[in-house]
Amino acid sequence: MRPRLIVGSSSKGKTGIVTGIELIQRAQGFGPRTAIVSGGRAYTYHDLLEASAGVAEVLLGSGIVDAGDPPATGVGDLNEARIAFLIPGSFEYVAVQWGVWRAGGMAVPLNTGATEPEIEYVLTNAEVRIVVAPREMEGRLGPLCRRLEIPLLAVEEVLGAETEPSRFSGSLPTIAPDRAAMMLYTSGTTSKPKGVVSTHTNIQAQILALVEAWGWETDDRIPLFLPLHHIHGIVNVLSCALWTGAQVEAFPSFDMDRILERVGERASTLFMAVPTIYVKLIRAFEEATPAERTRWAEGFGAMRLMVSGSAALPAAIHETWTGLTGQKLLERYGMTEIGMGLSNPLHGERRPGAVGQPLPGVELRLVSEEGKVITREDEPGEIQIRGPAVFTEYWKRPEATAEAFVDGWFRTGDMAVLERGYYRILGRLSVDIIKSGGEKLSALEIEDVLRQHPSIKEVAVVGVEDEVWGEAVAAAVLTREGAGLELEELRDWAGG
Ligand code: AMP
Repeated sequence: MRPRLIVGSSSKGKTGIVTGIELIQRAQGFGPRTAIVSGGRAYTYHDLLEASAGVAEVLLGSGIVDAGDPPATGVGDLNEARIAFLIPGSFEYVAVQWGVWRAGGMAVPLNTGATEPEIEYVLTNAEVRIVVAPREMEGRLGPLCRRLEIPLLAVEEVLGAETEPSRFSGSLPTIAPDRAAMMLYTSGTTSKPKGVVSTHTNIQAQILALVEAWGWETDDRIPLFLPLHHIHGIVNVLSCALWTGAQVEAFPSFDMDRILERVGERASTLFMAVPTIYVKLIRAFEEATPAERTRWAEGFGAMRLMVSGSAALPAAIHETWTGLTGQKLLERYGMTEIGMGLSNPLHGERRPGAVGQPLPGVELRLVSEEGKVITREDEPGEIQIRGPAVFTEYWKRPEATAEAFVDGWFRTGDMAVLERGYYRILGRLSVDIIKSGGEKLSALEIEDVLRQHPSIKEVAVVGVEDEVWGEAVAAAVLTREGAGLELEELRDWAGG
């Protein structure tokens, strides 16, 4: 999986000229501090700047993307070309994300758990120009990328590129903050996921709201184990930490044993997770030895803040967690399209079952079914959001984008009610959206796939309540005459 046509200049020792993206610009001020602990190594902010400058140069010099033609200045620009990457949580993930941004590209992080048809859909829909992934994923991605004629670059080579000097002489383009930065795919009430396009300004507003509300500090340390194709891990954990000069310990996935070990060692000051993870942690406590329970309880108890979100946190889980660790979880509400919208307070009452009040910079209103703006407590309505954190568009879906807004307000499709000064989420307007383990799934998309099974004539998919996953996917199936169907066989078929 050799990168083709790589002609960048060596970036060793250089951090590149940084302009336009404040998140990256700020890193210069944190130079020797540790930014990311990953794969048993500690990487500084300086390492991150140097590595991402190298990635940007490789992308600009690749010849794969027309990076503009300004030979006089030697500065190219990917002009928002979509660069996808399938990289588990690591230093390499951030180096590539920042490298794409610094070269003027649009970052499209892929779901490490996605099936080949799902990846193919994103690569095709987003018109991805380059894919970057660890060499070990060649077997999984190589044939697909070759079929789609999209160059696949090995992250090891992109990061280690020692190449001939080229016309891209180490200067990186100036990136206007209102340019598109990232596209995250989200499922909804249509059968195929939509690409949510956010600008650098949007992402920065999402970061600033949380840094202020949750009092992020330079000395904070946070574990990162959430999926990195989703806003929760990308913005709430990774980008907020790097904005602040804090430290991220990256895990390729949710490795419970290792994470609990690090909790016992008091490795972190902050912890952010989805409700499913708290349920799993409670189970681990139940099965632990008294010594383990004490060590973990003290470790969690010593953290300065623990946050839950991306799905409803049942009040019982909230209370059990407080009983085990002494920590009162801070629940917040957010969405790929808006970043975080509502949060319980850092100081003050954290009410189980409620999501608090609008975050700084977020304008929020509740609107009744008849379109009337609700001004009283105890009257439910749809949450609508306005502000600089709100995304710009659904990729190549102008009608869907237009439908999602009313008078400049984004319609979240979530119902809520204001009670004693705090908002409480009541549920979604559409039953076709399932939230399982914090991941949004489209019932329609799952139905479309199941309908392709030779034994299935008709199918209806719904979310059913589940203790661990919040909601589990349930399918009611009508088989074709004479056809048999086994659940295990169906699972294997759907996963392949
Ligand atoms: P996503 O875009 O994948 O982050 O999904 C956003 C959706 O997750 C929202 O529209 C809500 O339906 C749901 N959600 C996020 N946070 C909460 C929460 N604290 N309570 C209930 N639902 C939530």
